This record gives sequence, C-alpha cells and structure tokens, in this order.
Amino acid sequence: MPVVCLADWVLTPQQPPKPFHKVLFDDRLGTIIAVEPMTSDEITTWQAERGQTRAEGMVVLTPGLINAHAHTELYNDEPFPLEPDQTMADWLMQVMAHRQLDSPDFEAILQEAVRQSVTVMMKTGTTCINDISTRGLSFPVFEQLGVRGVISPEFFHPKPVMNGDLSDLIPKQFIEIMTTLAHQWSAHPRVKLGVSPHAPYNVSPSAWQSVMQSLSSLDIWLIHSHIAETLHEVLWVMGQENALNAVHERFMGGTVAPETAAESPLDYVNSVLKSRTVLAHGVFLNPDDMDAMAQKDVRIVHCPRSNLWLNIHMPPPRTLALNAAIANGVKVGLGTDSALSCPSLDMRDEARIAQHLHGLSAQAAFELVTLGSAQAMFWEEHIGRLETGYQADIVLWHLPSDVMPQPQADMSHELDEAIQMSLYATWLSPKTQCHQVWIAGQHLYTR
Ligand SMILES: [Zn+2]
Repeated sequence: MPVVCLADWVLTPQQPPKPFHKVLFDDRLGTIIAVEPMTSDEITTWQAERGQTRAEGMVVLTPGLINAHAHTELYNDEPFPLEPDQTMADWLMQVMAHRQLDSPDFEAILQEAVRQSVTVMMKTGTTCINDISTRGLSFPVFEQLGVRGVISPEFFHPKPVMNGDLSDLIPKQFIEIMTTLAHQWSAHPRVKLGVSPHAPYNVSPSAWQSVMQSLSSLDIWLIHSHIAETLHEVLWVMGQENALNAVHERFMGGTVAPETAAESPLDYVNSVLKSRTVLAHGVFLNPDDMDAMAQKDVRIVHCPRSNLWLNIHMPPPRTLALNAAIANGVKVGLGTDSALSCPSLDMRDEARIAQHLHGLSAQAAFELVTLGSAQAMFWEEHIGRLETGYQADIVLWHLPSDVMPQPQADMSHELDEAIQMSLYATWLSPKTQCHQVWIAGQHLYTR
C-alpha cells in the first residue's frame, strides 16, 4: 500500500532542500514511489494542523542515517578509558575481556549488546549499520529489529600462511561459519554478509589472501577492515617492537613479526586489497596510501570520536585527514565505532565533531552520514537518498521552529543560501529530535 509522509522540508544529498514536499512509498516493496510537492489543498490543511495535531516546530524528512563502522556486540554505557600510562593495546585487552567469549552464555550476552546498540542507533535516526561481528551473532537481532545492515564476521591470523594451509589457527572454523551464514543470509534484501580481516597487525597478507580465496564461492557483499588506527600499528608494520606485541603475546602465545617489510599499514596489505573493500579509521594514512586506495576504489570510514579517544596521548593529527582523503578521490563515510571507544552511537553527534574538526558546512556533514556512508558500504545505488526507486529508509525529524523561517511554497526554485545553511545547521543541532523511523517502508519507531 502507498504511504504518504508530508513535511515542511525534504532533505536529500546533492539537491536543494524541498519545501512543502511529500514522500510516497510502498510499504510492501519497501521502496520510494515519488518525492513531490504537496498540493495547495494539502499545504492549507498541513499549516492549519500545525500546533493542533502536531508538535510545534518544523517537520523535516531525510534519508535514514548510515553508521558505516560499528561493532554492535560491544556495548557499554561509557567508553573504556585509557589511563596516562596505557596504550591502545591495553584498551584492546579490556575489549577482549569484555566480550566474555569464555562464558557459556556468551551468545546471549553478545546478542543483548547488539540489541542495545541497534535500539539506541535507531532512536537517533540510524537505519543502516556496517557491523563487525565475532561470528555473525548480530544477524537474527538485525532481522528481528528490522534494521538494515552488512554484518562482517571477523578473523585474526597474524602469522604467515604456508602453501595456503590455514589449519593451524581459527580460520578453518571461520570458513565453516561463513559458509553457513552465506547459505542462510545471502538472499536477504536488508541484511547482508560481509567479512572482516581484523587489521594489518592481526591478519598477515598471506592469511588475508588465503581466507578470501577459501571464501571465493560465497556471496559476500564487502570486505570491512581497520587501517592505520594508531601509531603503534604503523611502527609494528615497519618492524619496530611496541605495545601491540603484547597483544600477540597474550592471544597468540608469542610475538609475531610482520610478514614482509612495509612502509605503512596500507602498504603492508595493499597487494591483497581488492575492490569492494572498506577500511575504518585511516588516522596515519600517507599521500601514497590515499592514492593507492583511490586507484582501487577502496573506501574509508572516518570515526573521529573513536580516533580522538584512542589516540588521546598523541599530538595532532589524531584522526583522518578528511579533506585530503576527499581531495585524493577516496570515498568517505562516517561511523561511530563501538560504544567502548565512543561516548554515543548517535550519528549526528559524530557528524558535529567531523564538522568542527574539518571545517565542514552542516550540509557537507549531512551528506557524509547519508550519501558518504552509503558509498562506504557500496550500497549507494539503493540507500542514502530520498528519491524515486530508492529504499524507503526515512527519518522524520522535529526541528525547533524558533531558529528557522517557515517555508514558503513559492521558494522551491530559488532558495536563499542563508535559509539553506540555517536549515542544515538546525537539523544538525542537538535540539532537533528524531521522531519517526521507517526502514524498507516499515514503520519501526515513534518517539
Ligand atoms: Zn572498529
């Protein structure tokens, strides 16, 4: 059945704001049928109802926000702190302990964390999540909650692999898990299967290649890894012992040296990087790294708050050089990372920090969390815009009315730049509330 949503403004990337518009979508097919101006009768009724049946304030429709890097099974009320004498390696060990993989109830514990993360995200307007998962336990929770996403089970194999033989470490079991998940989920329209080689210091290039070769017959949407997140990672691939060796010691029973000499984490894994790969963080990418990524269309997810948190003892720069990445032709999305390194899972909180750090306009920040993150998930043909034929992932926001003029129906073509800027800035402000959420045409949340 067609559903109609009316709004004072419709915002969608790369188009001017549309005053007094409506979005029509098919709740059975889950796609947008049309985005068009309201009729004059509709505008009259809409304005008469203001303050009676609706809360005061502007009603704005946007595409659902997209969190392009998350670990939903890592949930906590507060990020884990880094004490002055601690490194990211210490933080990682806290995370490993937090997962409670030794507990007989670990599946239930992780799935409850997924439920909490997704629920918090949905209430703040996120409709799609690029998730990394221990062994795909997020799938049934995503399915049940109605959220969209790509879930990438992660593997670790820092040692070199001889003759493609993976039998000495976890990946053999991992291939079985992936095969089962692919059979269960590959045809699902809303929840897709990815794969996550954890990070260069935890997956050697030969292991990366062997695992991907073993999975080559499966229908896998994307490869999702981490890159150049801390200085320790850079030093490790360059062959300098540091705190990351303690992580290997703890989980591998000994130190592990890099498989080949490399000048950077990206250089270390570059020979095995394929298309449809997205890398999170990129704090310590150099210009050659960015060129190599752009050439292969490897995309990146910027996680400014997590980067600032985990590189707290570093001098600036402590996060991705966003403008340089974009100037180099790398497609960039935005993600929160997990609640263990980020104080909230709200994508507008993340967007405000990105805006502040890189001098972005509010409109550019809006495009980062919609179109940019859709690109980071290789899903930009179907999500990230409110346009005919796109998925009906829609958020209805209430904006405080006192900071913005009322839209006029005749403003549709020549929209004053100041109004446009004020509209995006108001949308991004903490006073604006997420009021309703639809994903694939299903109504899933009302404030
Ligand atoms: Zn991460």
